[in-house]
Amino acid sequence: MWSPDKYLGTLYRKIRPKFHFDVRHMDEYSRWRDGLRETFARNLGDFLKARPDLNPRVIEEREYRDYFLQRVVYDSDEYLSIPAYILKPKDVSGELPAIVACHGHGYGSKEIVGLNPDGTDNHDDPGYQKNFAIELVKRGFFVIAPDLLGFGDRRLEEDKNKEANENSCHMISTYLLMLGKTIAGLRIYDIMRTIDYLESRDDVDNERIGCMGISGGGLVCGFTTALDSRIKAAVISGYTSTFIDSIMSIWHCVDNFIPGIVKKAEMPDLLGLIAPRPLLIESGINDPIFPIEATKEAYDRIKNIYTFLGAEDKIDSDFFHGQHEISGAKAYDWMERWLGE
Ligand SMILES: [Zn+2]
Repeated sequence: MWSPDKYLGTLYRKIRPKFHFDVRHMDEYSRWRDGLRETFARNLGDFLKARPDLNPRVIEEREYRDYFLQRVVYDSDEYLSIPAYILKPKDVSGELPAIVACHGHGYGSKEIVGLNPDGTDNHDDPGYQKNFAIELVKRGFFVIAPDLLGFGDRRLEEDKNKEANENSCHMISTYLLMLGKTIAGLRIYDIMRTIDYLESRDDVDNERIGCMGISGGGLVCGFTTALDSRIKAAVISGYTSTFIDSIMSIWHCVDNFIPGIVKKAEMPDLLGLIAPRPLLIESGINDPIFPIEATKEAYDRIKNIYTFLGAEDKIDSDFFHGQHEISGAKAYDWMERWLGE
């Protein structure tokens, strides 16, 4: 008797992804890169062509010892707004390098800017995301931390009174899948709009915009950077792997699934679109949902693409003793190195 396990394994092994990186010449490379970007955008459900007015407004302001904290809202689409925190260093002037900080599963952007779900200051353990937005502002970066669609203030009405850590991933994802769209695509588009917003400010240097994200935010960070060359450096934490060894083999939130993508490319090919821009891959060697062996395999495959482009110095790894969490041992230095003065 044939088992379902064997059948699924066979289905995967039969696939020859169209954009598996096997490029020898530069003209081939451009075709690979442009073709994969176009295909990837289609698999994500395509992005809106129109970019309606951002209509930005500030809804809250606070001051801390090292930085100012603002809650801003800007519009992504005609009927969709993005609330975000801005962290701006004190005693600075002119155009600053900026980082878009993408939180993972939890209670949204508050969780990475040192706040509790009710908005009070969190003086306790910051959890697996280690308040990385605050670490970045302390290094002199202008930081923006949007709520990703389905989390925090961007949950559906039916979920708003649930525990802060609950999200709307399932309902939004499945709804969109029926329309041929994906929540990954919408979240990526929201980050593109966040960059539109950064570009509209006169205190941000458009040539020095980076992105850092963990877990589900690592997906959003990695794939937005792959598709949007306005991002000049990235740190992907707790996400890099192959689809087959993580998303397809270990239980993961439905927000990770992109219909048909494996027929086109595996995760290392997609993240390889970031090359030759600086990329740091951060992963805990005991991460139970993104096993380290697959992360190392993915890293080697991405690095091949950097090597092909003569950019080995633009990619690095921080495989640290830890689990599914931020390390930061190299991440903040990495951003300073590539985006600092
Ligand atoms: Zn989710």
